[in-house]
Amino acid sequence: MEKLLRRLIEAPAISGFEKNIRDVMQKELKKYADSVRVDKIGNLIAMKGKGSPKIMLSAHMDELGLIVKYIDKDGFIKFETVGGWDERILPANKVRIYGSKGPVVGVIGSKSVHISEDEERKKPIKLKDMFIDIGSKNKKETEKAGISIGDFITNYGEFSNLNGSRITAYGCDNRIGCLELIEIMKSVNKFKGTLYVVGTVQEEIGLIGVRGSMFGINPDAMISLDTSLGGDTPDMKPGDVSAKLGDGPVMEIRDAMSFVNPRVRKWITETAKKTKIPLQHLVLNAGAQDSSVAAVVREGIPSGAVSVPSRYLHTPVEVIDMDDVKNSIRLVSEMVNTAHKYF
Ligand SMILES: [Zn+2]
Repeated sequence: MEKLLRRLIEAPAISGFEKNIRDVMQKELKKYADSVRVDKIGNLIAMKGKGSPKIMLSAHMDELGLIVKYIDKDGFIKFETVGGWDERILPANKVRIYGSKGPVVGVIGSKSVHISEDEERKKPIKLKDMFIDIGSKNKKETEKAGISIGDFITNYGEFSNLNGSRITAYGCDNRIGCLELIEIMKSVNKFKGTLYVVGTVQEEIGLIGVRGSMFGINPDAMISLDTSLGGDTPDMKPGDVSAKLGDGPVMEIRDAMSFVNPRVRKWITETAKKTKIPLQHLVLNAGAQDSSVAAVVREGIPSGAVSVPSRYLHTPVEVIDMDDVKNSIRLVSEMVNTAHKYF
């Protein structure tokens, strides 16, 4: 499972440029699904089984990134963010720019401490003042490296094992959900109805891809698989975020845009109880994911989210406990097996 996760993490794919990860997922899902197709906007839809109920699981394939906006006369690259970045953490990072000649390594420059004023050091650098240095002497050299306006850029946080069952990488949000989709499609064999497993596009820029696929499939219920917040680090107060790493999958009861549907809540809770899989509850007033827009698609699709808690979400060093991932796969697989009792 870890090998597959590494392959998913190493497939660069920011919002709007999901092809690399979609290719990896398509190859895997073909082994276990009755059919796999890509819809007009780029969502990957794998299907297994027939008849009712129709259950849809989704995970967004896109990750946060940056995009080339301008190349100046000295060869430095100005950029925009794609998705919900905290701009304070961008300077002094390595990046990869995906131009026409393959990935190019660069660094987001940051003024050396030796020459910055006291006042400067107290204030975060503004995005409009940031730039990427790929080592070019002038604009021509940057262009010769294959870089042009509109190329996408990813961060450099590579996969590493941490202590015990924990890992860190850039893009765990949402390679973890993508891994879960594949593992669930693989493991679920005894269910009544039709299972749709959907890798969605452009979630990080406004939950875009999932709407069309949900409208097309018109499922009886949908669950999104994603990463969410873990609140067990020294910089958080008890009560800020109730979920902890290693304490199991998280049912999000409320986020900034939605509530879990009551029937879906019952389905998740009863399945966790029956299978003795630990389940955490989370109430947030921020963030949203694919399932958050389900209530406004067609006449409203019953939905909820089963998430894996993540530390340092939306940074290049997200930390995940793989035991939570395994428990999420078990929980959602069992939910699919018993879906006909609920929908
Ligand atoms: Zn996500």
